[in-house]
Amino acid sequence: MSTTNQTGQAIVLGGSIGGLLAARVLSESYAKVTVFDRDELPTESTDRKGVPQGVHSHGLLARGRQVLEELFPGLTADLTTQGAVAVDLQRDCLWVNDGHRIPRVASGLEGLCVSRRALEGYVRNRVRALPTVEIRDRCEALGLLADGDTVTGARILPRGAGEEHHPADLVVDATGRGNRGPTWLAELGYEQPVEDHVDPQTVYVSRDYRRTPGDSTFTAFISSPSPGAPRGGVAIAAEGDRWMVTLLGVGADQAPPTDPEGYLAFAGRLPAPELHTLLSRAEPLGPPKRMRLPTSVRRRYEHLTRLPDGFIAVADAMCSFNPAYGQGMTVAAVEATVLRDCLRQSRRELPRRFYAGAAKVVDVPWDMAVGADLRHPTIVGPRSRRTRFLNGYVARLHVAAARHPAVGRRFLSVANLMTPPPGLFAPSIAARVLWSGRRGAPQVDATPVAPQNDEKILTQVAV
Ligand SMILES: Cc1cc2nc3c(=O)[nH]c(=O)nc-3n(C[C@H](O)[C@H](O)[C@H](O)COP(=O)(O)OP(=O)(O)OC[C@H]3O[C@@H](n4cnc5c(N)ncnc54)[C@H](O)[C@@H]3O)c2cc1C
Repeated sequence: MSTTNQTGQAIVLGGSIGGLLAARVLSESYAKVTVFDRDELPTESTDRKGVPQGVHSHGLLARGRQVLEELFPGLTADLTTQGAVAVDLQRDCLWVNDGHRIPRVASGLEGLCVSRRALEGYVRNRVRALPTVEIRDRCEALGLLADGDTVTGARILPRGAGEEHHPADLVVDATGRGNRGPTWLAELGYEQPVEDHVDPQTVYVSRDYRRTPGDSTFTAFISSPSPGAPRGGVAIAAEGDRWMVTLLGVGADQAPPTDPEGYLAFAGRLPAPELHTLLSRAEPLGPPKRMRLPTSVRRRYEHLTRLPDGFIAVADAMCSFNPAYGQGMTVAAVEATVLRDCLRQSRRELPRRFYAGAAKVVDVPWDMAVGADLRHPTIVGPRSRRTRFLNGYVARLHVAAARHPAVGRRFLSVANLMTPPPGLFAPSIAARVLWSGRRGAPQVDATPVAPQNDEKILTQVAV
């Protein structure tokens, strides 16, 4: 990390994953970075009120792990020492898409199974240790300070004290999906960004179980919902010898029950029996916890013609989506690298350049998450010809992936944001997808699944 040319100060509102990663990259460019969060932020890894999603299983995608490792060297080794589990995302995980299993062979896609609370706690401690970063908890952001067309700071209310005004050269809104950024802009006389909304009509019910040696052959289990069977299940091995299990249902009347017997019975209705088998034997470590997923919202800051200098929104405050593909933390991490790269160039027109780069990062996960939502007939949203074509293609791809490990690998590489979606249409993949189902009973193809030349990783997206 460069320690030269650090000038001025930056403020980050919100000290969760998005805010902490922003603070980490801002510390390379600003002499002082202050993070304000309204929650009490513990020094250890525990759940907290401001992040209610923390009790639900959180997948960290391969791309997210890669970026986090770059920002915090040693993260994977440190967390595995604390009980997290490093995995090959194809060999060690059982993926069931539309009832079709991806063959479990080595893929080179590196993942990390860890709870959300442990990951956030680790990142917070690493950021806290940065000499120019201060994290102030129990401080609520009330709004922005401005002078003409420039945001000059933030209004902060520390718990039990009076309002404070903090000057800054840059204010970053990382207060999550419930953020008030657009309202703050309107208070300063700016237009609010247009918002795209899709309600995934999904309920999560999650429960932790004790993990014992040999209780399963996989380290993670992911069975996704399909229009014909709108139920899913996830189990992720986590530190503390736990399984973090989430069952989910899409649409009215599909919510998983919260009583133990109903919960187990729901797992028994998934297309693969392995999760039910695991839960019938494992010891529960607490009651099931329910959450109805909020509406996915994409705020189109990149389309605004007039933006104040000195203010940007990041992570869920800019775009929050159905976590079906587990993309939120990874998108926050990639956006942080976009912010870092913009700042390395200059501070001129930072908001416009950042939003242009971030929009490219968000396009893929937003399209994937919304596309998956719109497969379900009850979900309201624009179904373009492109969406219908892509959903039809992906459905066939799942059939082909059960037979060809290389197709499964490519799907996982795209879903893990390591390969841009055109990789799904590369000739070697498309041929297998188009011929799937025409050759009789599926047999697993033994061709090795090493990365192919037509895979280009997302890091090559230009800012
Ligand atoms: C049920 C569920 C499951 C998910 N599963 C996954 C997954 O598997 N993988 C994945 O990558 N992502 C997942 N996500 C998404 C992921 O949690 C977020 O994308 C990620 O936390 C980044 O969010 P964030 O930091 O922008 O906001 P948040 O995590 O929501 O944090 C916002 C922070 O701002 C603080 N705050 C709010 N208002 C104020 C204020 N006025 N002043 C000061 N502080 C404030 C809050 O206390 C909090 O600390 C899931 C989300 C949900 C809801």
